[in-house]
Amino acid sequence: MSTVENKILPVVDPICGMIIDNSWAISTTKDRQTHDSCSFSCRDKFFKLPQKINELHEKIRELEAQLKRESPEPR
Ligand SMILES: [Zn+2]
Repeated sequence: MSTVENKILPVVDPICGMIIDNSWAISTTKDRQTHDSCSFSCRDKFFKLPQKINELHEKIRELEAQLKRESPEPR
């Protein structure tokens, strides 16, 4: 049996660098990008950042891709 819908994925909070999972991350959308934060204070900091967000998101994607490669495939 595969449960695709309840898949928990690791995501990275770009403010503190914490690895969190998307089941409890605070997701917000800015500039059409979805961003995950570990807490509201990190989210607020993120929103105060200037336009470097696209760069940040590229880094986050890389990190998340790495995490997915490293974590064992659930059966
Ligand atoms: Zn954080």
